[in-house]
Amino acid sequence: MIYLDNAATTKTDEKVVQEMLPYFSENYGNASSVYEFGSKSKLAINKARETIAEALCAQPEEIYFTAGGSESDNWALKAVAEAYREKGKHIITTKIEHHAILHTCAYLEKEGYQVTYLDVDERGFIDLGELQKAIRPDTVLISIMFANNEIGTIEPVEKIGEIAKENEIFFHTDAVQAFGQIPIDVEKMHIDMLSASGHKLNGPKGVGFLYIRKGIKMGSFIHGGAQERKRRAGTENIPGIVGLGKAVELAVTSMEERAKRESELRDYLIGRVLKEVPYSRLNGPRENRLPNNTNFCFQFIEGESLLIMLDMKGICGSSGSACTSGSLNPSHVLLAIGLPHEIAHGSLRLTLGKDTTKEEIDTTIEAIKEIVERLRDMSPLYEDFKKKSS
Ligand SMILES: *Cc1c(COP(=O)(O)O)cnc(C)c1O
Repeated sequence: MIYLDNAATTKTDEKVVQEMLPYFSENYGNASSVYEFGSKSKLAINKARETIAEALCAQPEEIYFTAGGSESDNWALKAVAEAYREKGKHIITTKIEHHAILHTCAYLEKEGYQVTYLDVDERGFIDLGELQKAIRPDTVLISIMFANNEIGTIEPVEKIGEIAKENEIFFHTDAVQAFGQIPIDVEKMHIDMLSASGHKLNGPKGVGFLYIRKGIKMGSFIHGGAQERKRRAGTENIPGIVGLGKAVELAVTSMEERAKRESELRDYLIGRVLKEVPYSRLNGPRENRLPNNTNFCFQFIEGESLLIMLDMKGICGSSGSACTSGSLNPSHVLLAIGLPHEIAHGSLRLTLGKDTTKEEIDTTIEAIKEIVERLRDMSPLYEDFKKKSS
């Protein structure tokens, strides 16, 4: 199998699994207990919190463990909206966010909030002037993703942070794709809240965190016990938290080398596809792109057919986000960068991981060439096109 869907999820690193195992068996104590046995769990949580805080240039007490990226996104938006509703009920986000943000915004709109969805340009970048113009006296929150999960665009986060700070508006960023892949400094970038998830960085599924800057007045997301400074009750997912901490440690220490290796492979893949597959295009930018992301459109074919045929050759890719595939709607991200429906349908996202090899990329390119040609031979659209152009 060739796995090129690392933006959907990643394999849990063997070292991470080893680190987690004792917390299922020997060290199963509850971190809230008074006896010595429970304190082992408490120490393990503290260590993970410190590792993550250090990776972001934050304080350990600003890291709140959650059940993943979606929960962190929900919490950030709903809690700020509720806590600051006296100040205002306006939120600014973008048209290319993950559904965990977009659907939470839709929910808040039903609750009487107003949301501005910023456009992006043809490569997926927001316009800072547009952001500035969208700010109103009642704007309480700007939520803009660090990097897009479909087309890999890395947004100008530091500049967004400056604008938010100048206008005294909170800035949340969904960094689920970026964290562990590119350096993040919440101080330098003026980030007030940040979401991340374990399973996107070779950690376990079902665990993530929300960074909340000290001083932000936010209610509890889960009411109950005193865990997570009383803001997110429930007995901690200790194996998950330990695994997340280890995954972050590994990601941070290998980041530079991985980014170099993956971006070289990425550019090799992009270069060969654009050159060797006629009527193909790259979605997303050349520069300021996630090191592991590629996304292509192939005219005259359906992305879904391409995916199925790649799957038959043991190659795992995606036609956009895992949440969009399965539905016949083209991706909201591809529509937002201005692609017409019929072209947005023929898209393929291939996202590399730390174990991806050049050999796998070569095999994949040959498979794409063969399948695209075969699908086009069966395509009436392509037939028409050839007739017209001859
Ligand atoms: C995967 C993803 C999420 C959701 O994270 P989960 O941990 O799967 O809930 C949110 N935002 C982005 C950008 C993602 O890629």
